[in-house]
Amino acid sequence: MKAPTTPRDRARWRDRLVHLLLPAPCLACGTPLPAAGNSLGLCPACHDRLRPPAAGCAICSRPLTGALPEEWCCASCRHRPPAFDRLLALWSYEEPLDAVIQGLKFRRLDYLGHHLGTAIAIHWQEILSEADLVVPVPLHWWRRITRGYNQSERIARAISRRLHLPFSAALVRCRRTPPQTSLGRTERLANLQSAFRIHPAVNLRGKRVILVDDVATTGATLEAAASVLRRHGATAILATVAGKTPLRALPGPTEDQLTL
Ligand SMILES: [Zn+2]
Ligand SMILES: [Zn+2]
Repeated sequence: MKAPTTPRDRARWRDRLVHLLLPAPCLACGTPLPAAGNSLGLCPACHDRLRPPAAGCAICSRPLTGALPEEWCCASCRHRPPAFDRLLALWSYEEPLDAVIQGLKFRRLDYLGHHLGTAIAIHWQEILSEADLVVPVPLHWWRRITRGYNQSERIARAISRRLHLPFSAALVRCRRTPPQTSLGRTERLANLQSAFRIHPAVNLRGKRVILVDDVATTGATLEAAASVLRRHGATAILATVAGKTPLRALPGPTEDQLTL
């Protein structure tokens, strides 16, 4: 581990040390954590409340109602498939995962990125091990400086280490985008157009890429990033996130579709 050199590094080390030495409270409910085995900074009861996303489209993971045949895709993905091959979301982005993600993003608890990445790598090991590169969704340099690090990079590095796959900062954010949460889907896509480029030293031709972000809401950020990777020669893209914001379920397959 690198010795702290800048005031920001020192602050991060201090936070980490305090968190290690004092009986830290559970990030979600505040209960003092036991001395060991606190994955994600959650007490065992809160950890048990983490839920997988609702059943949905095999490609974009949008929730769908009714009984779903295996590998069923939503109408949107069948008519116009996204730039990524699949969106793999480990948990639904609601309590208590929101407390973990906020700790990672806004409280400088960067080790949570390691916990999240390791959990993703273990859960999806079989499918992710086929890839050639692990690439995080980048932050604009200004946001990275104010936050201290890119939370998606912390998750991506843990996946890379766990699965022994090369990490690559292949994507570069070339302009700042306003916070995505205030925008609708069409606006998000427009907002993200041309926000990403590929680092000139990286060759993606023929590469199978794991694209990593912390949370997906509509998937617009991943779609924009994946389309840039695809344009530069990536042949397969697995978009991977720790949390997927629960969206209203769309109608699933009709009786006719199920009996075909
Ligand atoms: Zn708790
Ligand atoms: Zn879909």
